Amino acid sequence: MENPGLVTFREEYVYRSKVTEAAYEGRANVILHEMAHMWFGDLVTMQWWDDLWLKESFADFMGAYSQVAATKYSAGWITFANRRKAWAYRQDQLPTTHPITADIRDLEDAKLNFDGITYAKGAAVLKQLVAYAGSEAFFEGARRYFKRHAFGNTTLADLLAVLAETSGRGAEAMAEWSRAWLETAGVNVLSPEVVTDAEGRITSFAVLQEATAEYPVLRPHRIAVGLYDRDEEGLLVRSHKSSWMSPPRPGPRCRS
Ligand SMILES: [Zn+2]
Repeated sequence: MENPGLVTFREEYVYRSKVTEAAYEGRANVILHEMAHMWFGDLVTMQWWDDLWLKESFADFMGAYSQVAATKYSAGWITFANRRKAWAYRQDQLPTTHPITADIRDLEDAKLNFDGITYAKGAAVLKQLVAYAGSEAFFEGARRYFKRHAFGNTTLADLLAVLAETSGRGAEAMAEWSRAWLETAGVNVLSPEVVTDAEGRITSFAVLQEATAEYPVLRPHRIAVGLYDRDEEGLLVRSHKSSWMSPPRPGPRCRS
């Protein structure tokens, strides 16, 4: 629990004998998550529970980010994808799903939102935001946000304002990004469409984005496409990598 200046842990994290590597890695992640709350949640707190994600998604994101950047657990993002993000994908396809920024009427509503959407989907979306805005712009935005709002309360608009400044993408682009990712529920499916000639050479490659009928929203995705070769041992080795961003387009299915 991230009490300001004093993080407290339950006895389940005080190991009395040797435990698995996954358990040590999980504990390191929780320690970093709670440390991140000293900024996201304690120094600056959301005005109301609608923006619970402002602290929980950031703490979840920073837990994995700092684990990879500063500790021996360099596979932190792989663990994140397999555990946290898998949890988010599952919850986002249930009838109970909701947008990351939720409409919270009272404290009963607030309690329900400590879930896989607020924590894990929010953190995954922040990873997408770092890819969209650039990591320097993202961290410079965070520094300005804390300077401007230290010991105060904020809403989503305050965060978008600093990111519009530092990313150079402008207020309208950030608002559009927020509408697509934070204010709508549901998942997209991205799939490759590869066309080859008679010799098996790739002649065209497209990424198709689909949405469900319930949540027909297509989103801007910044992704990398990799090409892999087999080596003598049959292992796949990446030979090319490109960064690619899709434009958001209307309609239930788009081709980019
Ligand atoms: Zn937390």
